[in-house]
Parts: sequence; structure tokens; C-alpha cells
Amino acid sequence: MSKNTVRSHPVIALDGPAGAGKSTVAMRVAQALGYVLVDTGALYRAVGVLAQRRRVRTDDVARVEQITMQAVESHALKMVARAGATPIVWIDGEPQTDALRTPEASHAASIVSGYPGVRAALLALQRSFGSDGGVVLEGRDIGTVVFPDAEIKFFITASDTERAHRRHQELLQKDPSSQLSQVLAAVRERDSRDASRDIAPMKPAEDAVVLDTSAMSVEEVVAVVVQAAIGAQTV
Ligand code: C5P
Repeated sequence: MSKNTVRSHPVIALDGPAGAGKSTVAMRVAQALGYVLVDTGALYRAVGVLAQRRRVRTDDVARVEQITMQAVESHALKMVARAGATPIVWIDGEPQTDALRTPEASHAASIVSGYPGVRAALLALQRSFGSDGGVVLEGRDIGTVVFPDAEIKFFITASDTERAHRRHQELLQKDPSSQLSQVLAAVRERDSRDASRDIAPMKPAEDAVVLDTSAMSVEEVVAVVVQAAIGAQTV
């Protein structure tokens, strides 16, 4: 869709680094507006899990690209997204939840997301959710690559120590032995890989609003995004 095509409800692109609170914000925005939520990071995480299931090493670029393309084409890898609800990723007919949220899945996702064939396979899938608008997509390259014509673009960030702290709090609920220093190191490693890769590197789109949320509450961030979206609705 070109910039000139009018969507009555906007596409909302929420990009930014790991642990900035995008997922929480994206969910609350989608619920407030009744929009479909698409967590694109879950798709890259799913490719890591898929590689593990198919016994393919994540450093085997050609094989990872091949199994991703096959799985997307055959719908062995798919995402089901509904208005105001957490999207569910399915692999081989099984819904994936906890398996996608482990530190290993985060690491694998940040490796495979640098492979051109993986990004290409997931691009059409991501676009299929959004072209009519009324959708919130969160990721790293939504405003730059997936929906460069999104009506609303935010780059949500926070200092790395604040992001590590937030991610650590989340991980502690499942793993009381989680160490803040390790979480900070993993966040920094992922940031640097995501921002420095050749293809679709994480960066704010030129027309994105950069929101440093280090000193903002979730409610404040949600209010800013919802206001912008309401202003862009034409019905
Ligand atoms: O957002 P989340 O932490 O779930 O993303 C996991 C990884 O997937 C990121 O570190 C990044 O490498 C990759 N990703 C990406 N492009 C997106 C979303 C996620 O490269 N649009």
C-alpha cells in the first residue's frame, strides 16, 4: 500500500531494543483500541525453536533459511493473531508459548534474524496482518522495512541498565536464579547484533518518534501511543 492510500485505522509500528517494554505497551495499546497485535519477535524466536526441532544448527545459514521457507510455505510455522489478544505462534500444529520466551530462544532469534532468507520468509507473513490497518506490530524493523508507510511509528527505548532491570524482573518470575549482570550482558550483546547487522538493522525510521521510556510508566507510554493512533483514525 502506498502512502497515498487511506486506511481508516492506522498501522502502528512499535520498534526498539530488547527489554524496552514494547510488548507490554503493544498489548495495552491493542486492547485499548481493539486492534490486532503482531509480535514479530515471536516469529524470529520460533525460527530458533524450529531449528532445534529439525536438529539444524543455528549457524548453518543455508539450512536455517531452507527450513524457515518450507515451514512458512507449508504453514508448519504460523501465527494466529486476533484483536486485543496475545498472538499465538504455532509450530508443527502445536501452540508455542513458554518455549519462545527462554534466554536460549532470545539468543537463537538474534542469530537467525540476521539471515536474509529468514527475513524474506517472514516478511510477507508480517505484511499479511497489517495492510488494512487497525494493527499494532512490534519489532525492530517495522517502521523501516515491514511497513515503511505505517501511519504511526514509535521507536521505544530506555537505557540498557533500565531495560536489563525490567527483563530481569520478568525472568525472575520463572527462574529465581536469574542474574542481573548476565541479563545486562545478554541485552547488550543482542542490541549490538541487532543494530549492526547488514540486513534490516534495528534503527528508528526517519519519521519515527523516539520515546525514551527510562523515566516513564507503562501507562504514560500507552497514553502517548493511543493518542497518536486516535488522531490518525479517519472513522
Ligand atoms: O522482540 P524480541 O526480543 O522477542 O525479538 C527477538 C529477536 O528477534 C531480536 O533480538 C531480533 O534479533 C529479532 N527481531 C528482528 N526483527 C524484528 C523482531 C525481532 O530481527 N522485527
